[in-house]
Amino acid sequence: MKESIFSKVVSGTIAIAKGMLTVLKHAFRSPVTLEYPEVKSKLNSRYKGRLALLTSHDGSFKCIGCGACTRVCPCVDLIQVQAEKDENKKFKMTNYVVDMGRCIFCGNCIQACPYSALVMTDKYELADYSREKLVFDKNDLKLSPSESEELLIKIAKEN
Ligand code: SF4
Ligand code: SF4
Repeated sequence: MKESIFSKVVSGTIAIAKGMLTVLKHAFRSPVTLEYPEVKSKLNSRYKGRLALLTSHDGSFKCIGCGACTRVCPCVDLIQVQAEKDENKKFKMTNYVVDMGRCIFCGNCIQACPYSALVMTDKYELADYSREKLVFDKNDLKLSPSESEELLIKIAKEN
């Protein structure tokens, strides 16, 4: 049976009224979007961002270059570590390179580190114009002793 013009007008008016009601409801709500990059969203406390190397109070790297992180990383050769023995026959990391352009932010490396020397920060603005700029060495990844302590306190509070 064909719908009469009258019922079409009624159903159309109801649909428009419902639409206007939805618009009105949202007009008085606070916006859910942010004016990025001026305003940044609050990240989850367990956010996995750019890797960083922690240092001790004397400014030395906690990393001893054992290579455990390289073995658990699913991306071959993404982390490259070099180490040598110092005058006390203790291993010392001499270079640490990470290609963040290939990192999938899985967190395996930080879980595997037996010295808790590696962390994932909340830094996520990594975009750049060349892939080479996403390769970070130990100096790029280094956190100062105060930054390291601050981050460790934050992590301890969350766990
Ligand atoms: S977060 Fe995952 S992919 Fe990235 S360096 Fe660590 S283990 Fe490799
Ligand atoms: S970051 Fe940790 S697991 Fe990786 S080489 Fe250094 S001490 Fe070993």
